[in-house]
Amino acid sequence: MYRLYLVATMVATLVLPVALMPFGHERGQGSAVGVALVIVVASVLNVEIGRWLEGGMSGSQRPHKALSAWAFASALLLPTWWLLPVVSFTYAHAWWRGLRVPVWKWIGSGAYLVLCGTTAAVTAAAIAGPEVDLMAGSGLRGLVAVLAAAGAFLAVETLLFHGSAYLNRPESEVWLRKTLRSRSFYLTETGVLLVGGLSAAIWTGAAWFLVLLIPVYGLTQRAVLHEPLQERADGDEKTGVLRFEAWRRVADLGTQRCLRRGEPWAVLFADIDHFKRFNDTWGHLAGDRALAAVAQTLVRTVAAAIGDRGVVGRFGGEEFCVFLRSTELEATELADRIRAAVAQLDMAEGSPLTVSVGLASVPPGALVGIEAALDHADRALFQAKEAGRNATRVQLVGIR
Ligand code: GH3
Ligand code: MG
Ligand code: MG
Repeated sequence: MYRLYLVATMVATLVLPVALMPFGHERGQGSAVGVALVIVVASVLNVEIGRWLEGGMSGSQRPHKALSAWAFASALLLPTWWLLPVVSFTYAHAWWRGLRVPVWKWIGSGAYLVLCGTTAAVTAAAIAGPEVDLMAGSGLRGLVAVLAAAGAFLAVETLLFHGSAYLNRPESEVWLRKTLRSRSFYLTETGVLLVGGLSAAIWTGAAWFLVLLIPVYGLTQRAVLHEPLQERADGDEKTGVLRFEAWRRVADLGTQRCLRRGEPWAVLFADIDHFKRFNDTWGHLAGDRALAAVAQTLVRTVAAAIGDRGVVGRFGGEEFCVFLRSTELEATELADRIRAAVAQLDMAEGSPLTVSVGLASVPPGALVGIEAALDHADRALFQAKEAGRNATRVQLVGIR
C-alpha cells in the first residue's frame, strides 16, 4: 500500500506540473529563466546562511524545511512545470551541502513539495489571474492570492505527509508522526511559506526591496532550528532516547490524558542484566554501543507493537523507562517482546545480552502519579532480578 502510494505521488509529481500548466501562470520563456535563476540563487544563499548560522548543528538534518519558501515563491512566479527543475536543484544543492536524510525520504519530500507548489500555483492563478503581478492595484487581490495559495500548499503538504506517516510502517515514521502532531511544525511551515510569498510579491513590485529580507531569511533559518535544538536538549546523546526529565514531562501529560479519558496506562522499567560484567569483559566503548543498540531495540519494538502510544526514556545508567498507554495484557506482551528482541542482539559474540523488566500497570480512572508508578515498576524489576533475570514481573497499581 505504501509503495503504491509512493509510486502514485511520483507519477503525479512528473505529470501534474506539466498537465496543469494552462491553469497556472504565463510568463515569457526568457524572463522565466531569469526568475528561476534568482530563486535558485536565493535558495543557495539561504542554505549557506543556514550552514553558517548552524555551526556545529549540521547533523540536525532539519534546516531544509526553509526550502519550502523557494518552492512556494516559484509556484507564485513561474509556470507550474518550472517547479520540477527548481525543486530538484534546490534539493540537490541542500543535499550536497550536507543536509542529509535517507535518500528516498529526500526524493519523496522533494516530490511532495512539487505537488504542493503545483496546487499553490493553480490556486494563486485562479485568484490573481495568470499574469503575475501580486502588487497590482492596492495589492489586495495579490494578498488574497498569496494567502489562499499558502493555505493550499500547507493543506496538500499536511495530507501528503500524513499519507507517508500512516501508510508506512510506524517504526519507520516515529519522527514524522511526532512532527505532524506538533503545533510548531505548522507554525514554522506557515512562517516559511509566507516569507517565500512576501519575497515573490516584492519581486513583482519593487524587486530591490528584497535586500531588506536577507536578514529575515537568517531568522527563518533560526526558527527552523528551534525544534532540533529542543530535541537535542531533550534527547540522551548516547542512546538517542529521551533524557529522564524530558521523558517524565511527556509521561506526566500522558497520565493526565489517560485519567481524563478513562484509559489504562503502564510504566515499564528495563534494566540490562549483568552489564557491569559486560563492560568488564568487552570494554566500556562496546558497552556504550550495546546500550545504544538496546535503546533502539526498545524504540523499534514499542513502535511496532503500539505505535505512538509508547514513549521510551533513559532513566540513567543501563536502565530505561517506557510510558505506555496500554492495558496490562498489552504491556506484558510488549515486555516479553522487548526481552526477546534484546536477546536477539548479537553484541557479545554469542553470549546473549538480556534485560529484566518491571512493569507497573494502572487501571482506568486510578489516581496514580508517574512517581508512584515508577516506584512500583522498580519493585517489580527487583523481583524480576531476584527470579534469575531475563524475566518480566508485573505490579498492579491503584486498585481500590
Ligand atoms: P544487574 O543484572 O543486577 O542489573 O547487574 P548489573 O551489572 O547490570 O548492575 P549494576 O547496577 O551493578 O551495574 C550497572 C553497570 O552499568 C555499571 C556501569 O558500569 C554500567 N553503566 C552505566 N551507565 C553506563 C554507560 O553509560 N556506559 C557503559 N558502558 N556502562 C554503563
Ligand atoms: Mg541497573
Ligand atoms: Mg543492570
